[in-house]
Amino acid sequence: MTDKPHPNTILLRDLFTTHTLTVRARPLVVWSSQLGVLTEKAKRIGEVCLKTLSVVACFTGAWLTTCWETVAFAQDHSTITVEPSLLHLRNNGPREWASFAKQPDNQQLNLEFDFTPKDTLGTLTLTQSDVKESWTVTLNSKRLGQLVRDENELQTDFLIPSGTLKLGKNQLSISCRSNSPPDDIRVGRIIVHSASPETLRRGAMLQIEILNQDHVLSPGRITVTNQQGTLMPIGTKSGNGLAIREGVVYTASGRADLAVAPGEYQITAGRGLEYSAPSTLLQISAGETAKRTLMIEKQVATENWIACDTHVHTVTHSGHGDCTIEERMITLAGEGIEFPIATDHNKQIDYLPLAKEAGVINYFTPVIGNEVTTKHGHFNAFPALAKGRTPDHNELDWGKLFADIYSTPNMRIAILNHARDLHSNFRPFSPRHHLSITGDNLDDWPQHFNAMELINSGAVQTDPMELFTDWCGLINHGLQVTPVGCSDSHDVSRYIVGQARTYIRADDDAPGSINTEAAVESFLHGRVIVSYGLLLKLQVQASNDLETSRGPGDKLSIEANADTTKPATLNITAKVLAPHWSRPRKLQLFVNGMPKFTADLNPKPEPNEPVATTIQWNIPADQLPHDVWLTAVAIGDGIKSAHWPTAKPYQPDSAIFESKTFSCTGPIWLDTDGDGKYRSAREYANDLLSQTPVDPKSGTPDLQAFAKSLTGYDQAVVNQSLALLLKRGIEPSTVIAAGIGKRGREFERQWRQAEQARIEQRE
Ligand SMILES: [Zn+2]
Ligand SMILES: [Zn+2]
Repeated sequence: MTDKPHPNTILLRDLFTTHTLTVRARPLVVWSSQLGVLTEKAKRIGEVCLKTLSVVACFTGAWLTTCWETVAFAQDHSTITVEPSLLHLRNNGPREWASFAKQPDNQQLNLEFDFTPKDTLGTLTLTQSDVKESWTVTLNSKRLGQLVRDENELQTDFLIPSGTLKLGKNQLSISCRSNSPPDDIRVGRIIVHSASPETLRRGAMLQIEILNQDHVLSPGRITVTNQQGTLMPIGTKSGNGLAIREGVVYTASGRADLAVAPGEYQITAGRGLEYSAPSTLLQISAGETAKRTLMIEKQVATENWIACDTHVHTVTHSGHGDCTIEERMITLAGEGIEFPIATDHNKQIDYLPLAKEAGVINYFTPVIGNEVTTKHGHFNAFPALAKGRTPDHNELDWGKLFADIYSTPNMRIAILNHARDLHSNFRPFSPRHHLSITGDNLDDWPQHFNAMELINSGAVQTDPMELFTDWCGLINHGLQVTPVGCSDSHDVSRYIVGQARTYIRADDDAPGSINTEAAVESFLHGRVIVSYGLLLKLQVQASNDLETSRGPGDKLSIEANADTTKPATLNITAKVLAPHWSRPRKLQLFVNGMPKFTADLNPKPEPNEPVATTIQWNIPADQLPHDVWLTAVAIGDGIKSAHWPTAKPYQPDSAIFESKTFSCTGPIWLDTDGDGKYRSAREYANDLLSQTPVDPKSGTPDLQAFAKSLTGYDQAVVNQSLALLLKRGIEPSTVIAAGIGKRGREFERQWRQAEQARIEQRE
């Protein structure tokens, strides 16, 4: 190269229908053969560059930090800023998210720019966020690729094949098929470089190590952003114990050597919920290597609880998403999942050989499972055998399907997945099929699943309490259904594996050799905590038996106290734990699925210190009308940090969404009469109904007598009673009129909604 100025021009035409803007900017050229003309000048030029949308050409080893993002310059290449700002596009339809403007900038992006090409490979770099559908990037009629389907803000590179750039006008377009579902996206900060992505992202090296608090290298996740939190491209590809996407690196060994463009980076290490997320800002010049060691601290105590993700996919075996089975081993270890269930669609995959190969076998005990993907719901079933028979996923009849699952060798668990999402035009918990308040299946299908997902972090609900409320209905119905948190991740980065998870009470001394049978048994008993950014521990003691403390899945029999006439008091302790980067805000105790106590939380730990908030409640046992079950829910702020961002709903109910973290526990069964048995609300309702006198002529129960008998029973029993009467053809309004009054209103409302959905055949 010579020291001569490089006359580049840029023509930027904005082809938006509403306004057309053509800017022919004067070229602004910087040249230097000396490495000494650096930062200050570069910054100044960067500012000018911003204002005038001009071209910056660089030569001979000079580097600049310019144009806003870290634009890296390997030797000898020129760059053009094609579009300096981030634009809002919407392919069609109504607004997807209320956080976007009512009117987008346009439906698609069409830009024209002048370039003096050299017949070499080039790179188109852009920044994007909120991309859900398939958007195609085309340059001069040549398809460069698709935007990354990821809602996180990230910078990404497209290879411009040799000969694609033309002398004179070049046409760039970014568009989405108009028959795709509505997608609001942001895209822009588009720069064209006359160098390949490989050259561009190899100018400098990062050598990162993650140590645990014992100073031992630990698997983990390294997040690489610019100062604004945008995930940045990395030159190194997945392999050799690393799983890599834009700004996201999982390491199996705790080490990562990463090629990057020179520039400024924020590096954050982490390892899922239980660990701190230390961060460091660094500046790296061309040809330099920056070494950093980040120490992650275990901040959430999980002794005797193992971290399980019941819903894990790979692109290798499920055919969609982007995480290969090799990468999955690394991401699982990197997020601290100790008991992953492999649940590819209708396949039973053994992770063990690959976990061995990846050197992560001491970090988790893989379980073979199967997402039995039917047209009438998806069910995660495990434990399974790798070469064993698989359940028939073409079965539509729930009775036959569950019989088939439980007769598949080894299988003991069937989880109802994402019950409020629509797949194959079927939504298991649509009001058309399911009455949430009492857990009744309106088609009379047998509900033989023994667990259900309350939080699926790859498909969160708009309302984080909706599936929890559905689950409460099932428990009051008398079903033994374990609550589950899981990720449903198909990806390395888009949805984080193990972000929502289920803690199972089990020996956690050696994550690599967990006793699967014992863990499955514990899971089936509901000895679990559902976790999504928070961990809630719940214990109950009776004042007359302080020796015994009961947790999720346990039964507490309140013995009559022989020594004193004083009734026992239940001492309930709830502990909300979170790492320093997560904030719980609200804690609620539920009795028979109904909120009993609410506490607002506003913990203010020291910087980088974890949250551990304890709340205690007392309930005199004689205030409980009959046997009940307890659970608690903690809700917190969604995680915005790029190192562990919580996602938006996959099938939203509303354009307005506020991300929330969540935790709840398996049920604690309270046997209040000390007869050694827990009775559900459904059982009480059944007993009451069978004791109600029946009119001999009409065969209908005496509803007034029945309504009277419900006095002294809680709302859950009232609801279950209404469901039982409905099965006998007696509508809620009749029972309301007979004396239960407003206690029947919510059931009536939900039943009417169900009737409407059935008439309209609406899922
Ligand atoms: Zn599914
Ligand atoms: Zn799935």
